[in-house]
Amino acid sequence: MTQPSAPAAPVRFSDGEVERYARQLVLSEIGGPGQQALKRARVLIVGMGGVGNPAALYLAAAGVGTLGLIDDDTVALSNLQRQIAFTADDPDRAKVEAGAERLNALNPHVTVQSFNQRITPDSAAALMQDFDLALDGTDDFETRLAVNAACVAAGKPLVSGALGRWSGQVSVFEGRPCYQCLVPEVPPDAETCARVGVVGALAGVIGAMAALEAIKLITGAGEPLTGRLMLYDGLAGTSRVAKIAADPACPVCASAHA
Ligand SMILES: [Zn+2]
Repeated sequence: MTQPSAPAAPVRFSDGEVERYARQLVLSEIGGPGQQALKRARVLIVGMGGVGNPAALYLAAAGVGTLGLIDDDTVALSNLQRQIAFTADDPDRAKVEAGAERLNALNPHVTVQSFNQRITPDSAAALMQDFDLALDGTDDFETRLAVNAACVAAGKPLVSGALGRWSGQVSVFEGRPCYQCLVPEVPPDAETCARVGVVGALAGVIGAMAALEAIKLITGAGEPLTGRLMLYDGLAGTSRVAKIAADPACPVCASAHA
């Protein structure tokens, strides 16, 4: 992940925060510096759906300092089977409003910014000036391609999670290859969870994997899934990782990273 050129000012933690993050502070790959990086980090969660919900909960719990939530939808009763940030009182409320309330209740040290709007190429470009990283869990390819283009233009990493029925995938894009190299154009028969169904626990798996990749990018721990696609088959209980090839003709990243 791109680091600011000037050294960042140290972040002070209250006693309550030190206790709250104790299990991360003892990890050699995170520790104090990683926890400070998490607190300084600004992550944009694109879509408060099946992937965005668990991802946002885990990132708030981990102590990511600023979480942006963007979604123009309201909570439906049929969301509660997998969108676990919402409660039975939330149907008809704006997802970003109900989500922000829940994240603040989980961790009051996190600043949550809500954007109750549909993401467009222009709004994605503007938002990525203000955030360090995007985590996209939407099931809408036009949104995904817009977020990808904004991340490439801003030089910011993108964590991408998708799922349907019993299987899902997670990948990280930093420059080239980009998401558009993987999905060159909007598939004509794109499936959505509403049409094909999805098991709620699978959303938890994929959302948590996406949150883990974001935590790795922010703290520098381990090897992020950059340029790799993790495919998880929940029915078979198997996973595999495939390398993503850069498209030489990609209109988004080929010229930007020639
Ligand atoms: Zn590309």
